[in-house]
Amino acid sequence: MSDRLAAAATGIDALVHGVESLASLGASPLSAAYAAQAVAMVGRWLPVAHADGSDLETRSHLMLGAHLAGQALTLSGLGLVHGIGHSLTAHTGTPHGVALAAVLEEVMAFNAPFAGPAYEQAARALRLDPPAGGDWSRALIAAVREISGAIGVKNRWPTGRGAAPAAVRRRGSGRRRRHAQQSPGRHRGRGAGTP
Ligand SMILES: [Zn+2]
Repeated sequence: MSDRLAAAATGIDALVHGVESLASLGASPLSAAYAAQAVAMVGRWLPVAHADGSDLETRSHLMLGAHLAGQALTLSGLGLVHGIGHSLTAHTGTPHGVALAAVLEEVMAFNAPFAGPAYEQAARALRLDPPAGGDWSRALIAAVREISGAIGVKNRWPTGRGAAPAAVRRRGSGRRRRHAQQSPGRHRGRGAGTP
C-alpha cells in the first residue's frame, strides 16, 4: 500500500471513529464532545493533509483530531461500519480504513432513520450548510462521500480479495484464545467497539 493510500485509509478511519461515536448507543455528552471536535478537525484537515503531506502543521491538526476520535470511541464504542469493516478485513485482508470506506455511506444510509440527531451534530461539526428540507443525514452522507472521494479511499482493494487468508486465520484463532481467557466482566456488550 502506498503512503498516500495509508494516509487516506487511516484518516477516513479517524473520521468514522468520530461519526460512529456520535451515533453509538453508548454515546454520552462527554464522548459526544470529543467526537464532534474530532469530526470537525478530521473533516477539515484530512483532505488538506492528504493533498500535501509535507505540511507538518496541517498534519498536527489531523493527528489531534484523530486522537480526540480515539478518546470518543473509548467512551462510547462504535457501530456497524466497524462491525462490517472488521469482517471484510478478516476475510479479505483489506486494510481497515479501506474496508470502512467501502461500506461507510451505505451503512450510514441504513442507520439514518435512527441516527438523525447524531448525524446532524456531525454535519454541523463539518460546518455544512443547512440542507433544503432539513435532511442532515443525507447532507452528511454526501459530505462523507466527497471526503472519501477527494482522498481516493473509496473502493480501493490494494491487497485483493483473499490475499492474506492464512495470516488472518492465525490472527483470528489467537484472538479467540485471548478472549476465552478474559473474564466475562470485561465484555461490555459493544461488539463493534474495536477501533
Ligand atoms: Zn477504526
